[in-house]
Amino acid sequence: MTIFTKIINREIPADIVYEDDQCLAFRDINPQAPVHVLLIPKTAIVSLDQLSAVDHRDLCAHLMLTVPKVASLLGIGGGYRTVINTGAQAGQTVFHLHIHILGGRDLKWPPG
Ligand code: 5GP
Repeated sequence: MTIFTKIINREIPADIVYEDDQCLAFRDINPQAPVHVLLIPKTAIVSLDQLSAVDHRDLCAHLMLTVPKVASLLGIGGGYRTVINTGAQAGQTVFHLHIHILGGRDLKWPPG
């Protein structure tokens, strides 16, 4: 079980900004921008590499459609970045699929 499952189960606190039956969004504990939230499925999927076209098609669509909803709720609609780190080499540290949503400042490209 990862720390994100504990957040879903309310076993540890988090600043939750959005929730529905399939996903949860909460503020990152170590924000890299004025707005930095993590959108996660309630189902514990390790990473993009573990997605199945059979089991997760609807969930993927739901997550993607929820990103702009959360961004808009947080006042950054129209100007934000989404990041999904897949695997340790890419910087993934929590092995429960999550979409970073970052905004509230000018974001540089390429990212570090
Ligand atoms: P990753 O590096 O796996 O793409 O992103 C994991 C993110 O989870 C990091 O940005 C990190 O700051 C955040 N994080 C790790 N532990 C916690 C926690 O207990 N609570 C919250 N809110 N964020 C966490």
